[in-house]
Amino acid sequence: MRNALRTIGRGIKGLSKAAVNADPAPADTVQLRRERCAACDYATGKKKTHIAGYEVLSPTSRCRLCKCLVSAKTKLRGESCPIGSW
Ligand code: SF4
Repeated sequence: MRNALRTIGRGIKGLSKAAVNADPAPADTVQLRRERCAACDYATGKKKTHIAGYEVLSPTSRCRLCKCLVSAKTKLRGESCPIGSW
């Protein structure tokens, strides 16, 4: 229960920072992170494209490990991937 509350609190903090564009990561960093998440099995809500089965994230894609919204998490300079992909 305590871990769940901590995760929720961390998510709210991250979403708030992303919403007001606080602690932004450089655009090329955001793009690289999102490409890695799109190729990761822990990301939810991905859609296959018609281009060689390449997958893209949806606006509501989440990381199954940290529970964060990928679109918000990847925008924040201070965030990191829980398995070290970025
Ligand atoms: S943050 Fe890391 S573990 Fe989570 S979906 Fe992205 S690449 Fe995968």
